[in-house]
Amino acid sequence: MSTTDLLGRLGNQQDESEFYTPMPSGYRRGYHKYVIVVGTVMSGLGKGIFSSSLAKLIQDKGLRVAPIKMEGYLNVDSGTLNPFRHGEVFVLDDGMETDMDLGTYERILDQDLGAANFTTNGQILTSVLKKEREGGYLGRDVQVIPHVVGEVKLKLRELAVKSQADVVFVEVGGTVGDYENSFYLEACRQLAYEEGEGAVMFVALTYVLEPGTLGEQKSKAAQLGIKRLMEVGIQPNVIACRATNPVNEKVRQKISMYANVPMRRVFSMHDQTSIYLVPDSLRVAGIDREVLTLLDLHDRVDQAKEDRERARWNWFVERIQPPKDKTVNIAITGKYVSTRDAYASILKAVEHCSVHLGVNINLQWIDTTLIDRSNVAKRLAGIHGIIVPGGFGSRGTEGKIECIKYARENRLPYLGICLGFQMAVIEYARNVCNMPGANSTEFEPRCPAAVIDILPEQKAIEGLGGNMRLGGKDVELKPGSMVSRLFDNAARIRLRFRHRYEVDPKFIPMLEQHGLIFSGKHPTQPIMQMLELSTDVHPFFVGTQAHPEMTSRPLHPSPLFMGLTRAAIEFSQKTNPSSSKEPVGQ
Ligand code: GLN
Repeated sequence: MSTTDLLGRLGNQQDESEFYTPMPSGYRRGYHKYVIVVGTVMSGLGKGIFSSSLAKLIQDKGLRVAPIKMEGYLNVDSGTLNPFRHGEVFVLDDGMETDMDLGTYERILDQDLGAANFTTNGQILTSVLKKEREGGYLGRDVQVIPHVVGEVKLKLRELAVKSQADVVFVEVGGTVGDYENSFYLEACRQLAYEEGEGAVMFVALTYVLEPGTLGEQKSKAAQLGIKRLMEVGIQPNVIACRATNPVNEKVRQKISMYANVPMRRVFSMHDQTSIYLVPDSLRVAGIDREVLTLLDLHDRVDQAKEDRERARWNWFVERIQPPKDKTVNIAITGKYVSTRDAYASILKAVEHCSVHLGVNINLQWIDTTLIDRSNVAKRLAGIHGIIVPGGFGSRGTEGKIECIKYARENRLPYLGICLGFQMAVIEYARNVCNMPGANSTEFEPRCPAAVIDILPEQKAIEGLGGNMRLGGKDVELKPGSMVSRLFDNAARIRLRFRHRYEVDPKFIPMLEQHGLIFSGKHPTQPIMQMLELSTDVHPFFVGTQAHPEMTSRPLHPSPLFMGLTRAAIEFSQKTNPSSSKEPVGQ
């Protein structure tokens, strides 16, 4: 019997076959190709940026791409991870809570992803154990090999079928040699064996050291890292050398010889001033063409599409450094002021606006635990716009309320995101509606006026139990409102959500009577999703229960962030007209 026949008899365990390869139905062997990206030497080399940039080049050529990140931790998703340790929790449209790298993939590929694009050891083991309890392994002892690695292969092939991908880009989390990712590597090795010639390729992302004391590049760590990969039976096809400076010929030669990889496939991937330059640097180096050759994909290329997409991307890239004299100062209040990764998507959304409006945005981080009524004006002096981002827990909330009050009373442009939306409601209730006891039950479970609360009956209607409201949801916009104008008068938009608390509907009439406008609502439930003040009283005071930063893309910046930035530009011109004689922005 041929290997192919054996592979076809999947799940049929009675014959004691050593081949265990459950296949999803509809799988087209030979059609779906795989690029597997592994890191050696150390983590933090930008595997996600590399992998998404390479996937973008292939996508630009008209091929369908599907990325997947395989995490080594045992958590089933990233929802419980502390942003201090692991960066922000990124939420996908289907509600999956993932690592911040998925945000990089969505932004660079301009593509919505879902649970199939993300896995963890926890997910893989959970599904193996579930199958075992359901009697899925027919009397066999369940083993890491073949069953756990079989589950990984199944996950990759399911993604290929679901996405109809020409190329699946697999990012193996961690570094070769970690215990955590060892069965992922074994699964990828087996996948390459089973799929056959020209279907699976491996990229080793490695690091070339340049110790200051020596003043020259050293290849040994890279060689040893790649050796570890070869020890587990994986021969890399392409080696991408991360380094501070361009990797010299001699070092590339050493790596090439040592790793059996021809020189034309050993690339320098030295630091760039911006991640948006990475796709083009890979293209100039020719990695995309090597992928087409190794995976026999030249026939699937749409040259005209590639030209169009490159022109669109270059438009953005050419504008990433706005003129120095056009600057606005935007403050972000945040608990994780020392951990920028905790706000990765907000930083990106701000960057997108900076490019589209041709203005430098100077972000200032404000620790609101240090803010009170006596120092807020001093602390916000010189600020042209303020963002209160999402967050959990009561630390610093009173300082946030002081910032919001200051912004509202001084016509300082304000954007409240999720917690920042809730805090704006609390501030309005306290200081405009004269309800000093207004608060959220998240911070004060027995507060006298719980304008922000958990409303289990609404959750039940949505079928989400008492848990977080997660993922993409429709928002109905009030015709004629500022947010509706920002979204080109759309009646309905879709944004990402991740929250547990919301505005208690019984306070809505009172808040509205006092001038707060709820300009975005759930289409059928009384869930408030956007608020604003009339432009008669404030140039830009907007809040949203959603996370608009998660759907901001380089070529499609978030309209809410654009609105804030435009208002900040105007504010800066009014408060300091001499600083910028020319009008900034569009
Ligand atoms: N802590 C608030 C809630 O659970 C806000 C959440 C957030 O900002 N993501 O509703």
